Amino acid sequence: MEPTQKSSRWPHLFVIAAFAVAGWALVFKTGVAASDEAGIVLQLPAQVGRWGGLDMLFCPDRDCGRQYLAEQLENPNVCPECGAPLGNMNWAERSMLPADTGMARKYYVRPDGRHPIHATIVLSGDDRSSIHRPQVCMTAAGHEITASRLIRIPLAGRDEPLEVMVLDMARSYQRPDGKPASYTSYYAYWFVGKNRETASHIARMFWMGYDRVVHGVSHRWAYIAMSGERIPDSDAHLQVIADFASQLHPALLKTE
Ligand SMILES: [Zn+2]
Repeated sequence: MEPTQKSSRWPHLFVIAAFAVAGWALVFKTGVAASDEAGIVLQLPAQVGRWGGLDMLFCPDRDCGRQYLAEQLENPNVCPECGAPLGNMNWAERSMLPADTGMARKYYVRPDGRHPIHATIVLSGDDRSSIHRPQVCMTAAGHEITASRLIRIPLAGRDEPLEVMVLDMARSYQRPDGKPASYTSYYAYWFVGKNRETASHIARMFWMGYDRVVHGVSHRWAYIAMSGERIPDSDAHLQVIADFASQLHPALLKTE
């Protein structure tokens, strides 16, 4: 009986050793994780086609919470209302996002005054939790998502189109005369990682996991968002998004 026991112990030990090595490899590989490399520049251009970008500033005080265009302020450093130091995140973003989250935002207007667009870039910090499904934020802010679809926008000098997710939103409110009204808007976005681009949250999660396990790195992902008003029961905003995004896209590419 003695040899049998001995021989059965060896495969057992082998399995333990194999698990130990695999476990070590997993810890080692995921342990090296963070890399500071991002797939884009954290800066919005002054001009996107016919749109000119204006800097926006936010009061971080919860009770004040005002927002301004920088050019309207004599002193862009402090809130004229309450004296708090102004920044580029509103109170909700500042309280929800990790402190090292990068953000760039501009309000883009055209000389003809049509189709103003609010553009934002959010770049994840070290803990990579800055970026979550935009749908969650939108519904939390009282917007109802009435439609969501992926649009493909042709880009000059690239075979693959840019894929952008477009959410049609509506928010009910009461007019001063007491009648119910609805504000209709859109929110459009895509994600960018190092050498990766997708409009799908699930695809982004997949690539994050893939890069972590296969390459042992966790890059800083960014998301680019555009929002504005839309006409109810019309798809006209899709063309506006396509015009803007196709001209914004090349300005965000890293030149290395
Ligand atoms: Zn204030």
